[in-house]
Amino acid sequence: SIGYVNGRFVDLNEPVIPIDERGHQFGDGVYEVIRVYNKKPFMLREHLERLQTSAEAIKLKLDQTLEQYEQLIKEAIEKSALTDCDVYLQITRGVAVRNHLFPDVSVSTTMTVRPAKQLPHHLRENGVSAIFHDDERWANCYIKSLNLLPNILAKQTAHEKGSYEAILVRDEYVTEGSSSNVFIVKNGTIYTTPLSKHILSGITRMAVKSIIETEGLTLVEEKFTKEDVLESDEVFITSTTSEILPIVTVDGQKIGTGKPGEIATTLYQKFQEKIANE
Ligand code: PLP
Repeated sequence: SIGYVNGRFVDLNEPVIPIDERGHQFGDGVYEVIRVYNKKPFMLREHLERLQTSAEAIKLKLDQTLEQYEQLIKEAIEKSALTDCDVYLQITRGVAVRNHLFPDVSVSTTMTVRPAKQLPHHLRENGVSAIFHDDERWANCYIKSLNLLPNILAKQTAHEKGSYEAILVRDEYVTEGSSSNVFIVKNGTIYTTPLSKHILSGITRMAVKSIIETEGLTLVEEKFTKEDVLESDEVFITSTTSEILPIVTVDGQKIGTGKPGEIATTLYQKFQEKIANE
């Protein structure tokens, strides 16, 4: 594992964040989590483009080009000596005496590279459970912002109820998971929430969308309700760290047969092939 702070690589235990760091005080920044398979960062360009979108949305001026971030991330992976790892990249509005107004200072860039979080095998084999939870977040969830309090609270509630994920519901419709995108399958058709300011444009969602197209399956990007979820044949979530993961119960109610479905299983296999071929 290795850390990086503003131009230097550090040990992860080194105390490197100044008290007046705005990420720390305000959550005034954006981030990305990138999965590295066999030393190759998966869909790196897409992650960096989303970082740029997030930064622009909060009027944060990145001090490096996407090519420079790409180089930096590759250097960090090399230095970590890890093969399969998670890269966490965070950019904040910098260090300045606490004041809500934007300071005239350089942004802070920090990064960690750690061994990839491996999902226990039985969870992938058997699927996981989820709960419904009110989407209590703000109006701009398409920004991958450091402010994750509602996500954390929803995930913790799910965990305390013995579930893996919280499926968030805003105005009667499912938006996404606390840290994932949600898909359902009904009569062979796959549905997922359309992109809007209310959800994050997941990179895994993007990958799954392209797999669905090449496989000749049907994806409908349309809003769906809790009832639609409970009446569906399959539910699965997507994210960088969970990849494609079947949800087999929601609020204690069985989805379909209560076992991982055929479509989620196929998509997961194709996703593994996509990783190998990248
Ligand atoms: N939605 C939210 C709120 C997330 O935090 C995440 C990732 O952590 C996702 C969706 C999935 O995005 P990605 O596939 O890019 O990891």
